[in-house]
Amino acid sequence: MTERAYFDWNATAPLRAEARDAMLAALALPGNASSVHSEGRAARQAIERARAQVAGLVGAQSKNVTFTSGATEGNMLALTPALETGRRKEPRDRLFVSAVEHPSVRGGGRFPADAVDVLPVDSEGIVDLAALKVALANAERPLVSVMLANNETGVVQPMAAIADIVHAANGLLHVDAVQGAGRIDCDIEALGADLLSLSSHKLGGPQGAGALVRCDGIHIAEPLIRGGGQERNLRAGTENVAAIAGFGAATEAAGRARKADALHMAVLRDRFEAALTAQAPDAVIFGAKAERLPNTSLFAISGLKAETAIISFDLNGIAVSSGAACSSGKVQISSVLTAMGVEGDLARGAIRVSLGWNTTEADIDLLLNAWMRVVSSLLKGQELKGAARAA
Ligand code: PMP
Repeated sequence: MTERAYFDWNATAPLRAEARDAMLAALALPGNASSVHSEGRAARQAIERARAQVAGLVGAQSKNVTFTSGATEGNMLALTPALETGRRKEPRDRLFVSAVEHPSVRGGGRFPADAVDVLPVDSEGIVDLAALKVALANAERPLVSVMLANNETGVVQPMAAIADIVHAANGLLHVDAVQGAGRIDCDIEALGADLLSLSSHKLGGPQGAGALVRCDGIHIAEPLIRGGGQERNLRAGTENVAAIAGFGAATEAAGRARKADALHMAVLRDRFEAALTAQAPDAVIFGAKAERLPNTSLFAISGLKAETAIISFDLNGIAVSSGAACSSGKVQISSVLTAMGVEGDLARGAIRVSLGWNTTEADIDLLLNAWMRVVSSLLKGQELKGAARAA
């Protein structure tokens, strides 16, 4: 079998050993966490342990962590007019989302479509702060949702500056911290976030778990799922104890290793990008002038199509993705790159390489070797086609 190397950590990360151990232990628990007997209390204990672990990663209080099925649900739970603060019970009147948000935020959550505005970004994908200030003047009690780091480019937003503007305008700030968590600092207070979404499977926990974390004093008056009153009435349904336990354990492990992992990934990512630009000087690395996550590289070379390149990489043992949304399996043009003003043909060629904590030098060697083979054969093929057309 061909040796393989995985470079799609922003799509999902492999399960951490700590998460697997915690899940196996939780799967052996027979109880329902709402039951009062010992078995039920043991399940409850596993959940509360995970809650403290998740709270620890973001510097929040455990009671303000609500477990969900993932960040998509966390985002939907957060993006509602029915947000109350200690002082104010009136609903939020408008939602502002940045143009580079994940579809689960871009969709506007539970706001009516005519109450949602999209905030422009600059050519690096950074929210235009002046435009944000102007936009917020159109609302009395705005809710703003800006991601900590972009899943395609890895570009990190100036969260504290955004939070200052939002709060000065009587607004609340929701931060989709899915891609930043475990890679850069995610302290809810330092970010200035009122609400923050996390996803388990980007941190080395299982898929299908996540959390919405609130600052103290933020109250969600409209749950997304009603029923048995679990998760303090915010998310009904019997808890997925094993997934939650795995998420908690992954979060703790990710937090403990964060700084060392970030350094390790940045060295390897920079090595890849240096080799890429040496070999293809016309390669465009998106967001390269901005602060980026240490693990992400989104790039394009004119004439190279992402769809064919990704298949060729795969045949050469390398898992990469297109930066574009391809949830349906079909590569579409990236709305993130469009918002950054990237021209269509170049955007269509964007390829994302995303690394993780156990990516090795040898993996980068495999990637670079495959790169040489894939790019030279694809570009040659296109040249031949072009020549045939010209003839
Ligand atoms: N936000 C961002 C930035 C993401 O990258 C993702 C996952 N692709 C999500 C939200 C959704 O997370 P989940 O898969 O847990 O629903």
